[in-house]
Amino acid sequence: MKRLAILGSTGSIGVNSLNVVETHPGAFEVVYLAAHSNAELLYEQAQRFHPRAVVLVQSPVSSDWSERFKKLGVEFLTGAAALVEIAAGADMDVVVNAIVGAAGLPATLRALRQGLTVALANKETLVVAGELVTSEARRHGGTLIPIDSEHSALWQCLVGESRQSIEKLILTASGGPFRQRAKADFARITLAEALRHPNWTMGRKITIDSATLMNKGLEVIEARWLFDVPVERIHVLVHPQSIIHSMVEFVDGSIKAQLGVPDMRLPIQYALTYPERLPNQFPRMNFQQWRQLDFQEPDLEKFVCLRLAYEALREGGTAPAVLNAANEEAVHAFLRETIRFDQIPHLVDAALQRHERHGHADFERVLAADGWARDFVKQQIRG
Ligand code: NAD
Ligand code: MG
Repeated sequence: MKRLAILGSTGSIGVNSLNVVETHPGAFEVVYLAAHSNAELLYEQAQRFHPRAVVLVQSPVSSDWSERFKKLGVEFLTGAAALVEIAAGADMDVVVNAIVGAAGLPATLRALRQGLTVALANKETLVVAGELVTSEARRHGGTLIPIDSEHSALWQCLVGESRQSIEKLILTASGGPFRQRAKADFARITLAEALRHPNWTMGRKITIDSATLMNKGLEVIEARWLFDVPVERIHVLVHPQSIIHSMVEFVDGSIKAQLGVPDMRLPIQYALTYPERLPNQFPRMNFQQWRQLDFQEPDLEKFVCLRLAYEALREGGTAPAVLNAANEEAVHAFLRETIRFDQIPHLVDAALQRHERHGHADFERVLAADGWARDFVKQQIRG
């Protein structure tokens, strides 16, 4: 029985993770659950999974939640510090980090420093502090296993292979809802259009990132640290059907790919059961339905965010933290409909150009760069 903490349990990945747990009675025990502010759903989850404790980061308006959880026999904690605390809780095997944004970084670091395994959906952790996080994991014997479907695919292709055998990593990208939309039209893209992803149902932030292709940029940076492969060897290939989740080309020219229907429960389950596999009843691939798979190069002129992510990774230091924080603020503003879709890359670009460069990204510098970029973007938006 693997004992789990699920951070961000009320989100898209969190709910899918709990679905995987329910699919395998006796395989997992949920010890902790944590969420930002959805007390109702957290309570429902506590009723179903009987964790030892739950954390709600934002204190609820009504004060009777503590009593209600207590009646279930569940300890009720609030605040960001409590969330980081449970990420290193005793009697635990795997921490699922399904938090969105750089807010997930402290919990990842804490769990890895405790020598735990982190099943990581929170790609922002590796974008803002990839070098720090991976070196801390090595130092304290912590393990990172990806949940992101592309990285799960690469991980699966690399089982039994050495890093020296890798020629390149090929991250596939659906291309998002605007693959065929003219760039001249980007200023007119509405929020509703940007939230309609062709292949995946996900949280709002990552759905917008998928529309700008910033998501793929963040994934390039995530791959760089997760697999310790230099940026020149990480390629992006647009594949609209999202059936091939990514590929590895080896030095002898052989290519391995991982395929499956787009369903996040599969990479989540693999991260939780690795190195084993467990049978399930999730939908299966039907090759009659998928007679054709298409591929094309990404358009970096049209999808500027992907180019900016490559540039930030090449620059290194605190640049990726600035890229990420500026993007988070710009996306939030777009979600509130205070800026246009085409302003997102402009704001990220401006932040990257204006930030004070720091080659060495320790925790304090990363936090400072993150804070600076958020203030900068908010100021630009206010005008
Ligand atoms: P979501 O918005 O649906 O859920 C986010 C979760 O994080 C919620 O439970 C929320 O309560 C919690 N949260 C938000 N802010 C927080 C904070 N400050 N402190 C603590 N908790 C906070 O997002 P999602 O789609 O589930 O994505 C989660 C992460 O997984 C993101 O990093 C995303 O890039 C990554 N990811 C998601 C998918 C997907 O299919 N949804 C696929 C690959 C990777
Ligand atoms: Mg992905």
